[in-house]
Amino acid sequence: MKLSFHGATRMVTGSCHLLEANGRRVLIDCGLFQGGRELNEDNASEFGFDPSQVDFVCLTHAHLDHCGRLPLLAKRGFRGEVIATAATFELARLVLLDSTHLQMEEARHRRRPSGRSRSSLAATPLYSMLDTLDSFGRFGRVARYATPLELAPGIRATFFDAGHILGSASILIEVNEAGRRHSVLFSGDIGNSGRPLLRPPSMPRTADVVVMEATYGNRDHRSYEASVEELHDAIATTLARGGNVLIPTFALERTQEILFCLHQAIANGRLPRSLSVFLDSPMAISATEIFARHPEARSTTLDSELSGRRDPFDIPGLQMTRETSESRAINRITGGAVIMAGAGMCTGGRIRHHLVHNLTNPNASVIFVGFAAQGTPARRIIDGAKSVTLFGEDIAVRAHIHTINGFSAHADQRELLTWHGRVDGVRETYLVHAEETVMQAFAARLGGRVLMPRLHEPFDL
Ligand code: ZN
Repeated sequence: MKLSFHGATRMVTGSCHLLEANGRRVLIDCGLFQGGRELNEDNASEFGFDPSQVDFVCLTHAHLDHCGRLPLLAKRGFRGEVIATAATFELARLVLLDSTHLQMEEARHRRRPSGRSRSSLAATPLYSMLDTLDSFGRFGRVARYATPLELAPGIRATFFDAGHILGSASILIEVNEAGRRHSVLFSGDIGNSGRPLLRPPSMPRTADVVVMEATYGNRDHRSYEASVEELHDAIATTLARGGNVLIPTFALERTQEILFCLHQAIANGRLPRSLSVFLDSPMAISATEIFARHPEARSTTLDSELSGRRDPFDIPGLQMTRETSESRAINRITGGAVIMAGAGMCTGGRIRHHLVHNLTNPNASVIFVGFAAQGTPARRIIDGAKSVTLFGEDIAVRAHIHTINGFSAHADQRELLTWHGRVDGVRETYLVHAEETVMQAFAARLGGRVLMPRLHEPFDL
């Protein structure tokens, strides 16, 4: 049996791991490298294996850095079967269609003479709409949590709820090879326990080998309860000042979590029932609708809320604005509204229009609830820039800026250690999906035989 790593090696994006056993090839995730234009090249380069020889792709979840190269895999000859949970399949379709549009748009922009990059690579989209539709044609069996699926004789896969986003999974691959049994557990991205919308992470009792994410392996998050409190507080004080609240959001999970927080704050009288809330993101609106369709993947706490016929996202003043004209109409509101829009890092999307209209207002506030990479407008605002450039114009930052970190969908060091500690019999652990220094810090805490693979590095198990 052979294991090799083709992404998320000493970095946080591009998850793609290949397991070869019994003459079959199983790929766990096929994610996009994200975080800057220089990564276009990483995405376009060879996979490190022959896509036409891959029999199965098991998807841990629908984030782009775990599924975003699937259309490219299909384009380069993959004809096998993709296996995922029902919610992951739906969200992956949404995410991949969005990514395809963005790539085509970006390539079109770069082909213009005024485009900043003259590289021919950047002017060609990684994949076309047809490639994306081809990859959807490979979507096969639906995995149910804790229910083994036979991939091929002597190879089975079992998905366990990872508690990271809707439908997310850790995947155990069990192999019976020449009378010997092996098991490899791929963590996927691990969530936090005690969150309102999702179940806590679950895992098999034993595994010989663990391939594990370590995104926040070097630190602990602020508590969720304190973060909710901070959010409610920031909104209440902004409303009292008479400004708008902008929340740049990530469409999957974070949006639904914030909506649920608002719902609770209104239900317990912390925020007024008359509060106007705008969800101004077609992608986030679709993700919220998909969320409502998958009770099998939600937390039981939430289900008990629902059996009391209370919609967790039911906010009396909530308006979901899909149309551009509806979005533009929000610009006329100068105070008293909560406006949620993407992109989370303000690199594109409708949030940038709302920033133009609110950043200069000292009564307004912007609340960041997620990760902001270096070089993004979100990062510059968080770091205290006096002004940011949006649509070629300098916009002064006079609004109140809040950064609330406890909404992360990733387990912190304490939760990662707990997760690993609950799996018995682990012979060795391969760390992926973290910066190198973070991995080293986490490896030191983890103990035992820990490896940090390099890109395309193969291992015999
Ligand atoms: Zn993820």
